[in-house]
Parts: sequence; C-alpha cells; structure tokens
Amino acid sequence: MIYRELLCPRDCYDTCRLVFSIEDNIVKDIKPSISFPTNGIACPKGIADHKRAYSSERILYPFINIDKNGNFRRIEWEEALDIIVGRLKELLSSKHSILFMDHAGNRGLITRHASRRLWNYLGVSRIDDSICDVNGAKALRLLYGSTYGIFPREMDSLRMVVVWGFNPFASAIHIFHKLLDIKKKGGFIVTIDVRYSETAEYSDLFIMPRPGSDGVLALGIARYLIENNMIDHSFINRYVYGFEEFSHYVSKYTLDYVERITSVPKYVITELAEEMYRRRPDVAIFIGYGVQRRIGGGDIVRAIASIPPLLGIHRGFFYSNTDGLPIDFDYIEGKYLGVPSRVISNQKVGEKLYEGEFRFVYIHLSNPVATLPNALKVLEGLKRRDVFVVVHDTHWSDTARIADIVLPAPTYLEKLDVVYSYWHNIVCINHPVIEPLGESLGEYHVMCEISKKLGIESDVCPSIDILLEKALGFETYKELMDNGCIELRPRPRDEYRTPTGRVELYSTIAEKEGLNPLPAVPIGEILRDDEFLLISSAIREYLHTQFEDVYGEIRPIVHINPEDARMLGIDNGDRIELYNSYGKAVLIAKISSKVPRRILWIPRGAKTLDGFRINIIVRDDIEPIGRGSVINSTIVKIRKVHKV
Ligand code: SF4
Repeated sequence: MIYRELLCPRDCYDTCRLVFSIEDNIVKDIKPSISFPTNGIACPKGIADHKRAYSSERILYPFINIDKNGNFRRIEWEEALDIIVGRLKELLSSKHSILFMDHAGNRGLITRHASRRLWNYLGVSRIDDSICDVNGAKALRLLYGSTYGIFPREMDSLRMVVVWGFNPFASAIHIFHKLLDIKKKGGFIVTIDVRYSETAEYSDLFIMPRPGSDGVLALGIARYLIENNMIDHSFINRYVYGFEEFSHYVSKYTLDYVERITSVPKYVITELAEEMYRRRPDVAIFIGYGVQRRIGGGDIVRAIASIPPLLGIHRGFFYSNTDGLPIDFDYIEGKYLGVPSRVISNQKVGEKLYEGEFRFVYIHLSNPVATLPNALKVLEGLKRRDVFVVVHDTHWSDTARIADIVLPAPTYLEKLDVVYSYWHNIVCINHPVIEPLGESLGEYHVMCEISKKLGIESDVCPSIDILLEKALGFETYKELMDNGCIELRPRPRDEYRTPTGRVELYSTIAEKEGLNPLPAVPIGEILRDDEFLLISSAIREYLHTQFEDVYGEIRPIVHINPEDARMLGIDNGDRIELYNSYGKAVLIAKISSKVPRRILWIPRGAKTLDGFRINIIVRDDIEPIGRGSVINSTIVKIRKVHKV
C-alpha cells in the first residue's frame, strides 16, 4: 500500500489535507490527515472521493449528442476538438455570441484559474462569479479594502464568536470544531440565523431575527455600543474613517426600533453587545454567505462588519481570506491577455440564454442547469437548437446531459494542481495519485489544445512551472516545489487598502460609485398573507450536486413550521407544490419547529419530485451593492398536491 497526501480542492472553506491509500493504482481508502488544520477530521464528501472517482456516472470518453435529445455517440478527442474549434472559428468575429461559463467545481490554480486564460485572450463573453459571495465581498472591500479577516491559527485566542447567517456544522466542519474548542475553554458562542441550525444547537446563545432584518440588528448593536461609550476611542481615532457620520447615522437604530423590526428582544440585543464589549479584543464575527444572498445583502454585511472596529479590533471577522493571500490571481488567469467582450451576471444568464443571445457556450467546473437561479430558463436556453454547448466535466451532470459535445475531465485524484484555501493559508502541490481514468484530460490541457488548433501563438499556454513561479513569486514557488506544502504569510490584519488607508465606516468608494456611503440596511421581506420566504443552505454530504452518485439524489424535502402546516392542512410527508412567477416545484413536506413561521427551508440543490432542481423557482434579481445573488429573498406560495 502507498500513502499519499492531497489537498481537497472543493468549493469548501476547509480545504482539507487528505491521506490516500493506494494499491495497484487504485485508491482503496481516504482518511483525514492529522496535520494542521485538518487535525484528523474530514467530512463525508472528502472520505468518499474515491467512490466518486470510480462511480458509474463518470464521463470517460468524448461524446457527441447526435440529435439534441440526449442520444450520445462516443467520438475521438481529435474529432471533438476539431468540431469545437470549427464552431469557434465561425463565431470569432462576433465574440459576444460566445459564452464561457465556469465556477468552482474544483478551485485549483491550474484547473480553475489558469484555464480562464484562453477565454480572456479571445475576449469572448463570460459570466461573473456573482452566484456566491460577491455581495458580502464588495461590502467588506468598501469597509476594509479587502475581504480577509481571522485566519485559523488566530481562532485559538478567541473568547467569543458570533456566527452570523452561517452553519459551519454543515459547510465548514473544521471551523465548527474550532468553535467547540473555544466553547470548551470557556468561550461564548452565539449563532444568529433565520432557522435553528445544527450550529445553533451547540451555541450558548441563539438569536433568530426576522429574515432580512440582520442589518438592522447590527446597526442596533453599533448604536448601543456608541451610546454607552463601549467603544475604543484611540483605535477609532487612529484606524477609522467616517466615525462621526456613522455615529450620527445609527442614532435612529434605537432598541425599541430594532426590537420592532427584528423581533429580537431588547434585553437580548444589550446582552449580546455587552458580552462583545466584555470579551474584546478576543471577539470575532463569522459571517456566512447565506446572509448576503438576499436583497440588501451587501449592506447587511457592511453593517455587521462595522462592529469590530468600534470595539478596537483589527479585522475582527471571518468571511473569505483569499484576498489576504499573496497569490497573483490576475496573472494566472491571464487578465493581461485580453478582456471579455461582456460580462454576464450569473443571475441573468438564464434569461440571456433563453432569449438566444449566444451561439456557442463552453462550460466546465460548473453545473449551471442545477445551480443558477431561474434554472428553467438556463435549461431551455441551453437546449435551443441554435446554441452549441460544450461541457467538460468529470461526471454526467444535469448540464452535461444536454450538451452537444461532452468531454471527459479527470478528478483531482488524477491530475497535477496547486490548491489554496479561502479559510487557511496552506498551499500544496497535488501530484496525481492515480492515472487519469478513461480518456480524461485536464481543463488546462484541453484549453491549450484548443488554443493550438486556433493557431494562437501568444502567451496563453505557458508551462505550469512558469505560471506558478509568476503567480506565487520565485521564492514561494521554489519552497513549494521543495516541500510540497507551504504556509503563506497572510497580509497584516491592520492593513486597510481603502482610499483613506483606514476602515471606512463612511465609504469613499461607495460615494464615488453612487452607492450609499453608509449601510442602507433593509428591514426584511414584507410577505403577503399567503406568501412564504424560501431559503436554502448546504447539507454535509453534498457540495451543490457533487456526490449524488455516492449518497443518492438530494432529497426533495421542504421544512415547514408546525403552525403554518396546521393552518394549511399539511401533514408530514405530504406532497406540496411551491410556486411563483418563475415556475413550480413539487416537494415533500417535513414539519419542523426549527424553521420560524412563514419560512420554508430546503437543502441546496434539491431535486424536485417533478424532476427539476429547486432553482427553477429561485429568484434571479441582482443585489445592488455587489451585483450578486438574492436567492434567499425568493418568495413562493404553497398548495397541497392531491394524489391522483
Ligand atoms: S469537502 Fe471540504 S470538509 Fe470535505 S474533505 Fe473537502 S475540504 Fe474537507
């Protein structure tokens, strides 16, 4: 048996170090490494990745869809590439009609980032990254100049963590275990969420604000701290810009007002603020992505992240630490080679596909039919007869099944890559632990083959060594090659790359961009009598639709509050239809007191009983601050489905 270690490249905070047991070029077992920061813990996905690699759902050869109806015929790579390049050449004079779509199915520097080079060089249309964290990221950049906050080693000294709109139990298992450690040492854990999550169960205090009113709660806490002189004046004088304006602005967020809007009792707001003050500076707020995927989500994050500087804490939050790592992503993605002819919002790509704005769509590391909002339009748009769709993937995803050409990609077990994390600062080089299965070829390799066939002679495809050396810097690159893994030095916590060099509670960038310089927080959705708010979040076994071939399809369960169920005559296990102007979805009701009244919760990516993904009824509007997703502001109505 041979043992090899790899860094898991999934779109997941933890980026675990995993130890693979290999015999006769077959992975027999995967275990979490005992080294930092994995510490012998992994999720059900990581330890089952070999099952996924060998699953019957793998795409092992290139295929052509012979009739646009899902009847595929195996073809040779050469033929597949010739067809793709032929189509591309026909359309290069109208670059905006070519769309490149990717996401974070694998976040390796080579697999994800370097494979964007050709498309940047060609200057075709591409989608933005707005489905995930951009609203909050933009908010943090307005405030702090960048998104990074607390790194894992710094968590050890915390005595209080406020987990806001985040369920690390399901989506960041190591953060969850670190929270338990903090609690064991006498720390205080608070969860603020719109449902009673698993993380809430382990917390010392759980606060459930009315959905979408989190920003009001945050500004209420800020006002209470300021009014009661529980702030760090010398820190504010030295590191904060716009305190006077902010202070004046939040004065209207009185305890009475905040209680009325958020439904959080006044004594809970004051207890939270006072506990934060008592435990400063060893306090941090861990902000989840769910809280910003809603109307006003950017300003909600801006309001939440305004609290730590009042307490005199440098970057007293965690959101995404990528900005704090010294990696030149712009170089590796080849942004200097060219610019996209247009950038399409993830939210609106369904509409644009449906309207026939594209003739050629190239997709990898993504399953847009299942993951984008307004997914029926995405599906129907990609199925148009006048659109040619190429999908390069490891598995027969929803999107691969409707493509014109399907190309086989290796899993991360089968290819060379360099992997970084958006939580910790360890970077590792992943050498393949097994040979590529079937005829699978990596994303960067295929991009280079297409470049060659297009006759491109520019710097689109440098060697992987050159790419890494330039993206990481020579010294770091050499250290990585010598050691396999390295710990990058994060940027300093007190470095604020805003125009004033300070934390901008009054944002000069926002002012310039015509946005509100102060957080204009929403009060939350106002629902009519028959309306419900639909929210979704991750469950441990799946990453979007990945791992359905291991754990089965994501169950079509919708959680509904007992009182709502009673009023609608719904029992556990009943089929109910959720509907709105986007479409309808049939699911199975689960009565649960963990969701409040008028909220429905579903696991992200759930497959509906009528064969679609839940995203067919998910809202596709654009959030004003970050231009990102508002999926958690989806409003639906319900009706019970009577069996025929
Ligand atoms: S999916 Fe996340 S938690 Fe699971 S093994 Fe990979 S990095 Fe670790």
